[in-house]
Amino acid sequence: MDNEVLSKNFIEQIIDKDIEEGHCKVVKTRFPPEPNGYLHIGHAKSILLNYGLAKEYGGQFNMRFDDTNPTKEKDEFVESIKADVEWLGADYEDRLFFASDYFQIMYEAAVKLIKKGKAYVCDLTADEIKEYRGTLTEPGKNSPYRDRTIEENLELFENMKNGKYADGEKVLRAKIDMSSPNINMRDPIIYRVAHQYHHRQKDAWCIYPMYDFAHPIEDATEGITHSICTLEFEDHRPLYDWVVTELEYENPPKQIEFAKLYLTNVVTGKRYIKKLVEDGIVDGWDDPRLVSLAALRRRGFTPESIRKFVDIVGVTKANGSVEYPMLEYCIREDLKLKKPRVMAILDPVKLIIDNYPEGQTEMLDVDNNLENPELGKRKVPFGRELYIEREDFMEEPPKKYYRLFPGNEVRLMNAYFVTCTGCVKDENGNITEVHCTYDPETKSGSGFEGRKVKGTIHWVSAPDAVKATARLYENIIDEEKGVYNEDGSLNLNPNSLTTVECYVEPSLTSAKAYDSFQFVRNGYFCVDCKDSRADNLVFNRIVSLKSSFKLPK
Ligand code: ATP
Ligand code: MG
Repeated sequence: MDNEVLSKNFIEQIIDKDIEEGHCKVVKTRFPPEPNGYLHIGHAKSILLNYGLAKEYGGQFNMRFDDTNPTKEKDEFVESIKADVEWLGADYEDRLFFASDYFQIMYEAAVKLIKKGKAYVCDLTADEIKEYRGTLTEPGKNSPYRDRTIEENLELFENMKNGKYADGEKVLRAKIDMSSPNINMRDPIIYRVAHQYHHRQKDAWCIYPMYDFAHPIEDATEGITHSICTLEFEDHRPLYDWVVTELEYENPPKQIEFAKLYLTNVVTGKRYIKKLVEDGIVDGWDDPRLVSLAALRRRGFTPESIRKFVDIVGVTKANGSVEYPMLEYCIREDLKLKKPRVMAILDPVKLIIDNYPEGQTEMLDVDNNLENPELGKRKVPFGRELYIEREDFMEEPPKKYYRLFPGNEVRLMNAYFVTCTGCVKDENGNITEVHCTYDPETKSGSGFEGRKVKGTIHWVSAPDAVKATARLYENIIDEEKGVYNEDGSLNLNPNSLTTVECYVEPSLTSAKAYDSFQFVRNGYFCVDCKDSRADNLVFNRIVSLKSSFKLPK
């Protein structure tokens, strides 16, 4: 118990205090994405943090679309975000909200500010507003429109709403302090004119609220107690507090900032991903080379692995990047005991057992996962002609090579010991067949203890093998190496996708989209949900088996 108390993160500590001091009875949190793209691994942190806190404190978790900027928002994104949040297991029950449903409330809130003398309509152009705003070292100047009367402001704002002005002609600004050291407090714009179609409100509005004004109202309207956001909003907190104070909300929400999650060697920024999608460089937002949640799901990551990852990363106020191999560690850990270990050959060459009866097939009993007997056993056909990995034979092996070479004995995984007798080559010197003989006494599981061999290799029976496609991935853009080349083009990794024709054992014939397996020695693979067909299975490599990554203590 003590450990649990000690390991509380700084947000939990704030919530504990708020509860203790009676500021908060039921903890209410939300996840507020803007539906202008797909969610990525960074968002998973925010989702699981907010959902986790609500759950931990027996509170409520709201799913809220922050759809107050009609230019980039689309229903496609609403649907994908819902699917991702549900997939992660952040159950928002019936608590699904849209900020755009509060446009009337926000409009009335703006009118309230005007009536209090706390907001005014300003006719300065965007450039002038910028110029008047001052800099970090110089205070701003008051707008010449700052002292309009309340009546005039009410009328002009209503005209804004009624479509009397063109985009950019007038804005509504909060009247705070043009000499504030915090630039966000220098009479920020809170409403703008934009004659734009909204994905839900259609043409109902031609004025739209700005984020800093809208967000606190959304939170307060839903009774959110702790409005958790990322660090870049820290400097906006005084404005957040100003809005909820001036609007006189009774139990105003409290904004708390935490550090964004960044992963090394990948891109998470929506604009980069968008560019890759729009330029057709990747196969949509769910291309398995991306780290959008849709892409991770398609690649074969599980919600459990992402939850574990987010857990290990923890919640802090210090920015920093997490190593991509840590995410890989989490998926390996999750799949290790859950998935069958099957044999697939990615770079095949034939192995012929010359003393094995022609035309004979044995069905071997094979454990699905030696570390987890609950996964049971399966039948795997074995015969005279097999496929093995090309790299598992060498005519002239280096030292410490324990696999097949002339004269050497190895174990065929789950089957017999074989001794290599040589190979056959084509006219170009490429090896087309490897030959061996087997010892019938050495069948796996027969209790044979006679000899020790150093190498074990995997195989599939050639006449029974199923031809399939495997896709091997590397990161497509390495943020550390630079997203752009000098000429402005994207700095793409040419090896981000390798497609190979492979042979898998026949037990995989019935594999369905999202099923995943360990292919022994080759990694964890998942059936692609878009391109796999019953007559041509397509497997995405989720992760290889080996890593030098060690979990930090
Ligand atoms: P991007 O920076 O990729 O464009 P965004 O922050 O604009 O993302 P929003 O839809 O505004 O995307 O984000 C929804 C929520 O997710 C916000 O509360 C935001 O702070 C949080 N969030 C976004 N990116 C990250 C991240 N990398 N780590 C943690 N939380 C994040
Ligand atoms: Mg944003």
